Amino acid sequence: MAKTIIFLGAPGAGKGTQAQRLSEEKGFIQVSTGDILRANVKNKTELGKKAKEYMEAGQLVPDELIISMIENELRKLEGKDIILDGFPRTVKQAEALEDLLKKLGRSLDYVILFDVSDEEVIKRITGRRIDPKTGKVYHVIYNPPPADVEVIQREDDKKEVVKKRLEVYHSQTAPLIDYYEKKGILVRIDASTDPNKVYEELIKVIG
Ligand code: ADP
Ligand code: AMP
Repeated sequence: MAKTIIFLGAPGAGKGTQAQRLSEEKGFIQVSTGDILRANVKNKTELGKKAKEYMEAGQLVPDELIISMIENELRKLEGKDIILDGFPRTVKQAEALEDLLKKLGRSLDYVILFDVSDEEVIKRITGRRIDPKTGKVYHVIYNPPPADVEVIQREDDKKEVVKKRLEVYHSQTAPLIDYYEKKGILVRIDASTDPNKVYEELIKVIG
C-alpha cells in the first residue's frame, strides 16, 4: 500500500528541507500546504485571494479551505507515497484527514515530529532564503546560495510575523503531538543537528 507520512513541527524546523531530499532520493511526493497556498496566492486564484491575508499575518488559513484543498491534491496522488509537509495543523484538520484517508483507501504510516527549540527555529526562519526560479531553500549562514543564484526572503519569514507564527504553532498545532502520541504513531526525531544527521535519523525510522 502507498505510504503516507506526516511531517509535524514548528515553522522552520526543517520539514521542507528533509521532504525535498526524501522525494529526490526515495521517490516520495512532497505535499506542502504552504507551497500550494503560495502558488494560489501568486496566481490570484479564488483560494489564493481568501488565504493571502491570513498568511501575511502569520495566522492559519481556515480549516474548511485547507481541507478541501488537500482533498483535491490527494485525489491526484492515488498509489503514490506521500509526505504531508505542514498539514495537518489543527485537530480539526487531523480528524478530517483520517476520514479522507479512509475514503481514499490509504493508511497513515508515521507522524514524524521534528524536535527543535524555538531559539533555533527563529535563527533558521529569519535566515531562510528561496530561489524563486526553482523553489530551492537556502539559509544565509547554514546553507548559503551559490553566487549566481538570486534569492528572496518570504514576507512571512520577517521577524515580526515569525513571532506570531510560533505562537500559532504552540497554541493550535502542538496539541497534535499529544493527539498522535495517544494513537501510538508519533516518532520524535532530533531536528537540531545538521541536515545530514536529521536525514539519517529519518531513514532509520521509515526504512
Ligand atoms: P520548514 O519546512 O520546517 O518550515 P525549512 O526546511 O524550510 O523548514 O528550513 C528552514 C530553514 O532552516 C531553511 O533556511 C533551511 O535551509 C534551514 N535548515 C533546514 N534544516 C536545517 C538543519 N538541520 N540545520 C540548519 N539549518 C537547517
Ligand atoms: P508554511 O510554508 O508551512 O510555513 O506555511 C505558510 C503559511 O501558510 C502558514 O503560516 C499558514 O498561513 C498557511 N498554511 C500552510 N499550511 C496550513 C495548514 N495546514 N492550515 C492552515 N494554514 C496553513
